[in-house]
Amino acid sequence: MTDLAERLAAVDAQIADAARAVGRDASELTRIVVTKFHPASLVADLYRLGVRDVGENRQQEFSRKVVEVGALEGLRWHFIGQAQTNKARAIRAAASVVHSVDRARLADALHHAADDGDPVLDVLLQVNLTDDPGRGGVAPAELEALATHAAQLPSLRVRGVMAVAPLDEPPAPAFERLRRYADTVRAVVPDADWISAGMTADFAEAIAAGATHLRIGSAITGPRPERG
Ligand SMILES: *Cc1c(COP(=O)(O)O)cnc(C)c1O
Repeated sequence: MTDLAERLAAVDAQIADAARAVGRDASELTRIVVTKFHPASLVADLYRLGVRDVGENRQQEFSRKVVEVGALEGLRWHFIGQAQTNKARAIRAAASVVHSVDRARLADALHHAADDGDPVLDVLLQVNLTDDPGRGGVAPAELEALATHAAQLPSLRVRGVMAVAPLDEPPAPAFERLRRYADTVRAVVPDADWISAGMTADFAEAIAAGATHLRIGSAITGPRPERG
């Protein structure tokens, strides 16, 4: 086995253990491999190992990589980074799922970027679990209004919530708050049952708090190359 295959298998085993520990089935979980800063060839290598969900967080790198990787049957690209409204068209063109919708203007921009006949775009509403607006995400107090707004845009499908754990607080209580915020969104969109949470350092806590989509980078890809 290659190092990559070994790390992937090891993380999947840890995911299965963490799920079992809280009475969940790992088959309910989508493991997204975050490939940011790595070359497109890594995505192809992961695909050969059976990975079908990959994540990117910078629009330019994302758009370039999607072209370089080319069409691979069943591969889903998740956009997980902060998005500028003027990049909505490029993001929509390349993404299967956008995890980082955190304001009505961005939802509108993604909606208006749809061309006739485009499939509906799955989106998650990113919630800020900190008091620092620079961390991205809608403030929890504004989440219900954002859900109501996004739910009215016919080319978007609100699937749930996404968050990044705070740096200055243990992840478990923060992810418990996220579980409540997910309920807030489900009160608006009843079938929006996705919770995107959990990275290399905290995916076990996220699984315990009900995460359905894990975004795992370095534990699988190895250390990220220096950003250029
Ligand atoms: C980079 C990134 C991840 C993955 O981080 P790792 O710590 O390498 O697992 C997950 N989510 C977001 C939003 C990221 O930017």
